[in-house]
Order: sequence, then C-alpha cells, then structure tokens
Amino acid sequence: MADTFDLTVIGSGPGGYVAAIRAAQLGMKVAVVEKWATHGGTCLNIGCIPSKALLHASELFEEAGHQFKNFGIDIPAPKLNLQQMMAHKDDTVTANVSGVDFLFKKNKITPFRGTGSIQAAGKVLVTSSTGTTTTLESKNIIIATGSVSANLPGIEVDEERVVTSTGAIKLKEVPKRLLVIGAGIIGLELGSVWARLGAKVTVVEFLDRIVPGLDSEAARQLQRMLQKQGLEFKLGTKVAGIDKNADSITARLEPAAGGDVELAEFDVALVAVGRKPFTEGLGLEAAGVALDERGRVRTDGHYATNVPGIYAIGDVIVGPMLAHKAEDEGIAVAEIIAGQAGHVNYGTIPSVLYTSPEVAWVGKSEDELKAEGIEYKIGKFPFTANGRAKAMLATQGFVKILADVKTDRVLGGVIISKGAGEMIHEITVLMEFSGAAEDLARTTHAHPTLSEAVREAALMCGDGAIHI
Ligand SMILES: Cc1cc2nc3c(=O)[nH]c(=O)nc-3n(C[C@H](O)[C@H](O)[C@H](O)COP(=O)(O)OP(=O)(O)OC[C@H]3O[C@@H](n4cnc5c(N)ncnc54)[C@H](O)[C@@H]3O)c2cc1C
Repeated sequence: MADTFDLTVIGSGPGGYVAAIRAAQLGMKVAVVEKWATHGGTCLNIGCIPSKALLHASELFEEAGHQFKNFGIDIPAPKLNLQQMMAHKDDTVTANVSGVDFLFKKNKITPFRGTGSIQAAGKVLVTSSTGTTTTLESKNIIIATGSVSANLPGIEVDEERVVTSTGAIKLKEVPKRLLVIGAGIIGLELGSVWARLGAKVTVVEFLDRIVPGLDSEAARQLQRMLQKQGLEFKLGTKVAGIDKNADSITARLEPAAGGDVELAEFDVALVAVGRKPFTEGLGLEAAGVALDERGRVRTDGHYATNVPGIYAIGDVIVGPMLAHKAEDEGIAVAEIIAGQAGHVNYGTIPSVLYTSPEVAWVGKSEDELKAEGIEYKIGKFPFTANGRAKAMLATQGFVKILADVKTDRVLGGVIISKGAGEMIHEITVLMEFSGAAEDLARTTHAHPTLSEAVREAALMCGDGAIHI
C-alpha cells in the first residue's frame, strides 16, 4: 500500500519547506521528499546562511585589523583562525537545518529521504541512496527542486582549485590570488570574504558594469568602494578558459568585444556566473510537465503547471533566484491549494548584497524608470550627513528614493550603507501599501539612527531634507 498525502513537496529548500509548513498549518497531510542528508536546500546548507556567517566573521576580522584603532581600541594585529571561522559557519548551518527538522515534527510533516520523481499526477516515487523505493500517492505535488551553479564552456570545476560557491565557502586556506568570474551578488560577496582574509581578488565580468539589475549609480559607487578594499575589476572581459598547472591556474582573459588574449595566474578561481534551474531526475518529460525555453518549470499565475495537481515554486520557476521569493511562493501556493487567495507582490521583493557596506534595493531602479518612460523625482541623502553614521564611522553611501512625479507614490529605492539590508524594509512596507514619499517623510524616526537617512531621502522628494 502506498502512503497517501494531500500534498507532497519535492525539495526542502526555502520554497519547499515553507510550502510544507503552511500547508500543514492549513490542515493538509504533508510529505516532503529531500535527496540531501539535511533539510533547508541551497539556502541553508550551501547558500545564504553559510555565506552570511563567513561575511559577518570576515567583516569583524577586517574591522579588528583596520577600524578598532579609530575607536580607541588598541589590539595587536588579529590572527586568522580559518578553521574556527569555518566551524562557526558549519555550526550556523547545523543550527538552521535542525530548526527545519523541528518545524517538520511540530507540524506533523512526514519527511522522506531520497530522490523524488513524478510518475504521473498524484504519484511520486522516492528512491533512497541505497536504491530502495517508496511510492507516495498525493492529491497535489509541488516541485521545489531549486537551482544549481551555472558554468562556462572550457572551465572544469573541481571544487578545490576551480570552485563554484559551494567550494568557495569551504576553502581550506586563503588563496593568495583569487579569480572571481562574474561580478554578480554571489561573486562580490564571496570575493569580499576572501579579500578581507588576505586574498588578492580579481573580478572578471563580461558586462561593462557590476551587479546587473542594481541601480547603475549605486553600482558605480559600490565598485569604487570595493576597489578601495583591494578588489580589482576587469569589466568587459571574458574568461575564455582555465588551464591547471602544478601549483597554479592560468586563466585566458579576452576582451568581450574581441581582441588579444591575456594570460593571468591565480591560485583559485570562483565561477559565479549565475545559477540554472534544476529538474534532473524528476521525470518531468514522462509526466508531461512543460518547461520553458530556459529549462524552468512553466507555471501560470497560480504556480500550476500544465498538469493538473502539479505545482512549482522557487528557483525552478521564473523570477529572481532569491530565498524570500521562494518562501513567499511557498506560502502562496499552499494557500491556493487550500482554496484561498495566495498571492506574491513581485513589485516589492527586496534584494540585498551583503558586501561592506551593504547594498539593498526594492522596486524600480532609475534605469528602469527611464527605460519605461515613467516621470519620476529623486530624493537622495548621503550618510555623511547622518549623526549616527558619523559616530559609527559608517558614512559611506546614500539613500535614494524614487517617487512618481504626479502622485508622489514611491516606485523604488536603493540604500548603500551599513545595515542597508535591514533598512530597506521600511521602503518595502511603504510600497506594499502604495505609500507616498510624504507618508515616509512625516513618520517620526528615532534619533540617532541610520534610518533617519531614509526619512531625509523621502523629505528630499518634497520640500527638502533638514540636515543637508
Ligand atoms: C552562495 C549563495 C548565496 C546565496 N545568498 C542568498 C541570500 O543572501 N539571499 C537570498 O535571498 N538568496 C540567496 N541565495 C539564493 C537562494 O539560496 C535560493 O534562491 C534559494 O535557496 C531557492 O530556494 P528553493 O527552495 O527554490 O531551492 P533550493 O534551496 O535550491 O532547494 C532545492 C532542494 O531540492 C532538493 N532536490 C532537488 N531535486 C530533488 C529531487 N528530485 N528529489 C528530492 N530532492 C530534490 C535539493 O537537494 C535541495 O535541497 C544564495 C545562493 C547561493 C548559492
């Protein structure tokens, strides 16, 4: 007899595990199938959580070495204990993935360990690593199998000398020379970690700018800040191949527009050219589930695939590959399956780049508003004029708020600053409620806080800020 469920979720990343919990809260009998040894997917095991543990620890190392003296704290030069830093990262991962196990138990969700494949609508086969199989009968199925790192032709990843993010969060020693291929979020975050710990980091990017999608003014400022921190950028350049030598690797760098090849030596290369949806082994072809032209599971506005009873969410479908986007889709799809009106507002999904300073943005960028011909006004405020930032020696960066010229409705915002990833949410909530810049400008902000700069930027959309 097959086990029977109202819902079977394949994949336990932030999309899958959140969908499972919400569905259980709504009264469904839920199974989760996960092929890895631990729950939590890319985000908790090899993505958001371990990278942020290393970013935090390496930032403290950098501050202890270069900032403490400015605050009157005289200490000898800090010594790196990489093994302990990695242990902190691993402990952080363990605490988070065991949190998911706890939540599954609490919500009476049945976990199955193994690779899930869809035999037909309503039927999932689970194959364990030893080859034993279990068949689950399920009224509904959610595909939440996420994504894997993309690669470039001519580059062979070994996760030791040529690594993806997975190898880059567990290097055993600090590379003297690190090549980062791709100036997107993952490349700049992990490049920052190793630069702070002593690597000479060179970032090679095919485009002529860093972080596509980020407001171009903010991207230019961030690049200058990272250059000051020692990162070298080669924009408009492609890595045509990598040769491994006995003690080093040689990268072939070529101008994106064509031209002479330059050879450059490194110790480790990080391939950070994006991620691609993962559907291997799911049996989607046999089950008749359609993919789009980029290999993502095709869904309608309600996360339904073309096969009734089969849904998909997270990195494996269209949209930004972000954990909170996957989580919100998980909640929405569970509510839709339960007959409720689950919904995600894709216009207000914030992005955060956890460099130092952080960069956070939400809604439309200035570049997008220009391209769409929308008339906007800008309220901008620098942290050099913020009292708390001065006290913290954190005066780098600015807040920029973009509002509709006629209605004053906030259309987007970007913040570069320490703690930007926390502050962006006041613009996000405002946008969620279709608020105007004046609403934010008239809201009392505690003094002294970095958030006052957000309010001052909102004031700049109207009659002007007070402190500039
Ligand atoms: C280094 C790095 C840093 C990141 N940092 C951030 C960040 O700071 N903020 C942010 O928002 N996002 C971040 N991301 C992106 C984030 O991790 C993803 O957007 C998120 O994990 C997607 O969630 P998901 O549930 O769709 O899929 P995933 O988290 O990829 O989970 C998919 C799960 O499905 C399992 N699976 C796949 N196929 C099968 C099968 N057939 N049977 C059983 N199980 C299967 C996999 O083992 C995996 O556990 C980062 C990613 C990386 C790589």
